[in-house]
Amino acid sequence: MKIKLILVIIILAAISLFAITKSNIFVESNSCVGCGDCIGVCPTNAIEIIDGKAVIDAELCIDCEICITSCTYKAIRNNK
Ligand code: SF4
Ligand code: SF4
Repeated sequence: MKIKLILVIIILAAISLFAITKSNIFVESNSCVGCGDCIGVCPTNAIEIIDGKAVIDAELCIDCEICITSCTYKAIRNNK
């Protein structure tokens, strides 16, 4: 019984930690030309073009950094 309680506490702590961990990936809008290359490589569809600039949804982003390497204009960065 005690082990089950400890397991539940550990699982809840892990879920809470995941929920408060936000993505550190961001688009430097001055460098973005809105080409959309980053959209096609994002595994979670976290990127869209708004008013000609890429915008990352921090709720969907998993910090994989694939978009960083895909951007020819070096407009995506990790704010870690
Ligand atoms: S690949 Fe780079 S320049 Fe192109 S839309 Fe994405 S962030 Fe902007
Ligand atoms: S870091 Fe990965 S998940 Fe986040 S926006 Fe870039 S490609 Fe998508």
